[in-house]
Amino acid sequence: AGKLFQFKLVLLGESAVGKSSLVLRFVKDQFDDYRESTIGAAFLTQTICLDDATTVKFEIWDTAGQERYKSLAPMYYRNANCAVVVYDITQVSSLDKAKAWVKELQRQADPNIVIALAGNKSDLSARRVVETEEAQAYADEAGLLFFETSAKTATNVNELFTSIGKNSKLE
Ligand code: GDP
Ligand code: MG
Repeated sequence: AGKLFQFKLVLLGESAVGKSSLVLRFVKDQFDDYRESTIGAAFLTQTICLDDATTVKFEIWDTAGQERYKSLAPMYYRNANCAVVVYDITQVSSLDKAKAWVKELQRQADPNIVIALAGNKSDLSARRVVETEEAQAYADEAGLLFFETSAKTATNVNELFTSIGKNSKLE
């Protein structure tokens, strides 16, 4: 018989980097150019097969990035097994914000939490300001999984969540 793992996953990152869009792509395989911004947090689930014998069910908390909701974040990451910290490759400030979230998670969340850094909007390559190598070097140094993603084109979205599932399973 196969094994079922259940993981609580939280998404964090500046407003408008594409957290909700990544979840929508992963859960429903859809994309929306005019998404309403998240209020508080949204809860969704998605189940994937890692291999013939292993199924992972993600319970996903998609948080709002706005400053006024910041004090709620610990409620969502406290019991999380995994976190996706998202920045936008066209906004330098969003990487700084992502680094601050990683620091907070590494201090306050479960010490075994698996953290992935996602550089989203990789389809907007003409507007890129954060180089892949720079983000990869930071991710390596901080011990994070790293993917450049596009919720719009679906690039690396399944790869991101599959990798998190595999790495969380090993913890
Ligand atoms: P959130 O505030 O982090 O949840 O961001 P949203 O998911 O609400 O997305 C903010 C805006 O960025 C919306 O207009 C999305 O359509 C757009 N967006 C999200 N992901 C992508 C992407 O991968 N590529 C492009 N071009 N736009 C994106
Ligand atoms: Mg959102």
